[in-house]
Amino acid sequence: MAREKKVIALIAHDNKKKELVDWALMNKDLLKEYELCGTGHTAGLVQEATGLKVKPYLSGPLGGDQQIGAKVAEGKIDIVVFFWDPLQMQPHDPDIKALLRIAVVYNIPIATNKATADCIIK
Ligand code: PGA
Repeated sequence: MAREKKVIALIAHDNKKKELVDWALMNKDLLKEYELCGTGHTAGLVQEATGLKVKPYLSGPLGGDQQIGAKVAEGKIDIVVFFWDPLQMQPHDPDIKALLRIAVVYNIPIATNKATADCIIK
């Protein structure tokens, strides 16, 4: 059965969280049309800033990226907005690679910077 609303997963590494929150605020009216979820801290920040409900998964380093990857594989997430940090190593780098990979395997849109996120949401 088709879902009523498409689901967007939001993830941002620490140095990118402000950029993602600003993007979400800028696009709040468009994001209202989607169901939102995200890794723990990102979800909390976006929900607090926008007032939109964002279902939290675990924090990224504690398995949140893997949870989101599993939902992509199950066909339960339609779009991923993932502002990863290209300038800093992350302890959960293998999980990040796995999520980027699984989004390609299932051919879902995955925005890894603001320019691409703008294209996807507009
Ligand atoms: P966080 O996880 O939103 O819980 O900080 C993001 C990440 O580091 O992958």
